[in-house]
Amino acid sequence: MRFLPALTALSLTTLGIVAVAPPAVAGGGTTVSGPTATGSGGAIATVDATATAVGLEVLRNGGNAVDAAVAAAATLGVVEPFSAGIGGGGFFVYYDAKRKKVSTIDGRETAPASATESLFIDPADGLPYDFQEARVSGLSVGAPGTLATWESAVRNWGTRSLGSLLQPAARVAERGFPVDATFRQHVTDNVAAFSQFDATRELYLPGGAPPEVGSTQRNPDLAATYRLIAAKGTGAFYRGDIGADLIATVQHPPVADDPAVPWAYPIRPGGLTRSDLAGYRVRTPEPTKSDFRGLTVYSANTPSSGGIAVEEALNIIEAGLPSGATDTEKLHYYLEASALAFADRNRYVGANTDPALVKQLISDRWAKTRACRVDPGEALTKPVPPGALNGSGCAAATVGGPSEQGQSTTNLTVADRWGNVVEYTFTLEQTGGNAMVVPGRGFVLNNELTDFNFTGTQGDAPDPNLPAAGKRPRSSISPTIVFRDGKPYLAVGTPGGASIITTVLQILVNRLVRGMTLPEAMAAPRGSQRNTAGIQAEPAFRTQYGPGLTALGHEFGADVAELGAATAIEFTRGGGFIASAEPVRRGGGTAAVVRPAQN
Ligand code: GLU
Repeated sequence: MRFLPALTALSLTTLGIVAVAPPAVAGGGTTVSGPTATGSGGAIATVDATATAVGLEVLRNGGNAVDAAVAAAATLGVVEPFSAGIGGGGFFVYYDAKRKKVSTIDGRETAPASATESLFIDPADGLPYDFQEARVSGLSVGAPGTLATWESAVRNWGTRSLGSLLQPAARVAERGFPVDATFRQHVTDNVAAFSQFDATRELYLPGGAPPEVGSTQRNPDLAATYRLIAAKGTGAFYRGDIGADLIATVQHPPVADDPAVPWAYPIRPGGLTRSDLAGYRVRTPEPTKSDFRGLTVYSANTPSSGGIAVEEALNIIEAGLPSGATDTEKLHYYLEASALAFADRNRYVGANTDPALVKQLISDRWAKTRACRVDPGEALTKPVPPGALNGSGCAAATVGGPSEQGQSTTNLTVADRWGNVVEYTFTLEQTGGNAMVVPGRGFVLNNELTDFNFTGTQGDAPDPNLPAAGKRPRSSISPTIVFRDGKPYLAVGTPGGASIITTVLQILVNRLVRGMTLPEAMAAPRGSQRNTAGIQAEPAFRTQYGPGLTALGHEFGADVAELGAATAIEFTRGGGFIASAEPVRRGGGTAAVVRPAQN
C-alpha cells in the first residue's frame, strides 16, 4: 500500500481565494472556501469545504483527477453521510485526456437475486407499501456499488492506491468535523427514522437530539472501516466481515427496544444475501453521446435515465427553438423539452432498455418528432404522452407517468493539470438512506431500490422500471461532460432525485443558450417541469419568470425551497478552469483550483 506524500500546510486563502463560507482545513492544513475559483493546475468543486480541501491536496501533491475524486468522495462519505457513502451507489464519468476517451462506471446498487416484481407489494393486502414503510426497511437495500466504483476508477485510471486515498477521510472521521446547519437539518428531518436504530441514534442523535451546529462530529467506526478496507482491500466489504455485518443489518434490522420517537410502520427485513454482495460488479457502459450546436455531450447511460433525458431535451431545444428567441421563449422551450423527455423516459427507459432504443431517443431524428409538438406560443397540457416508437411526424403514444422526487445525493467535479476530468454523482437515494447505520461500521445503508416503480405506471404498456432479480433501479443521475472542438468545455452534475435531470439541463441551457457565465448559470433560480401539471420551482424562479411563463399557459405547482446542489467546471480556451459550486443552496459548496488566477 502506498500512502499520500506528506501534505503541505499551504493556506490557499493567502493565494487569493476569496473567503465567503467558513474555510475548511484538510488534514494537511490546506484551507479552501467560496463557491467559485478560477485558475490553473487542477480544479475541484464539491458541496463541502473539507471534501474539496482533501481533493485539492491530492491534486497539489501530484495526484490526478481520479485520485482526487476518490479521496474527496471518501471524505463526503464522512461529512455528508446522509447523502452518500460506501453504503450506496452512483455513476462516475471520466475523460481520459491521453486516450481522448470518455468512459463511465455504473456503480448502481443492485436488487438481490430473490427480488421479484412484487418487491414492494404488501403480501397481506396486495397493495404497495407506503413510501416510508418501504424506505426504512431491509427491503429497500441494494448491493452497494460505491466502493467497487472507487476501486475500479483507481485501478484503471488512478495513480495512487485506494488504501492511500481513504486515509485523509479516515483522519477526518477520527478527528471530527464541525456540524453545519445542513448536517443538523438532515438529522432533524430524520429524527423519527433514526430513532428506531441504536447504532444510528448513538452516532447522530447524541443525547437524543440532533447535534448542535458548531459541535464536533466524529465517526471512529467509519475511520476503522476505511482503514480495514485500506489494509485488506474491498474484499473486506464485499466478501468479509464488513459485508457480514451489512447483511445481518439488512436481514435482521437492529431495531431499538425503546425508540424515542414512534414509527408508524413495521420495519421489515430484506432479502439481500452475502452471495448477492459478493457477486456485485460495476458495469462500464459506453456513455450516452449526442451533439448540441456543434458541442458534444456525454453522460451516464442506463440504468440511469439522466444522460438520455438531458440529451433528448437538448436535441429538442436545438431542433425547435427559433433563432432570436426571447429569454422567456428560451425558458418555454427548456420546460417543454423537459416534459417531453420525461414522458419518453418514463415509458421507455429502465435498466434493460435496448441500446438501440437509447440511440433512437437521443437522435436528432427523434428530437424532430418531439420538437414539432412544441407550440412557441402556448404551453402543452401536461402530462404529455410519450412519443410512438414506430410513428413518424408528431406521433404520440398514450399516457404519461409518475415523476418521483428525491432530496439526497451528492456530486463532485474534478479536473487535473493533464486535462483529465471526473464528473461523479453518488447517493443513498433519500437523505439518510434507509436510516440504518451498520452497527460498529459507521456508515448508513441505501434505500436505492425504492427508485423502482412499486407498480406499473404506464397503463397497458410495460413499465421499464419494475423490480426484478439482480436488476438495477432506474436513476436520474446525470454526470455530464460537454466538449468543444474535441476538448472538455463544461462538466456538471447535481443531486436532486428526478430533478437532477432538469437541473443539469437548466444549467446547460443557462450557460449555452441564455448566455450566462457559469457562476451565473449555477446561481440562477431553478424551475423543473417533469411532465406534471405544474412546474416545481424555487420561489425566485416563479417571481422572476412566472408572469412571462404563465402568459404562455404554463402552470406552477407548489414552490420548493431548493432544487439541486450542483458542482461544475468550465475549461477556458487558455487552458484554465472556472470551478463552480452553489453559492447558497445546501449551505453553499466549495470550489478550488491548484493555482489561483491573479486578478
Ligand atoms: N436515487 C436518486 C437517483 O438515483 C437520486 C436521489 C437524489 O438525488 O435525491 O436518481
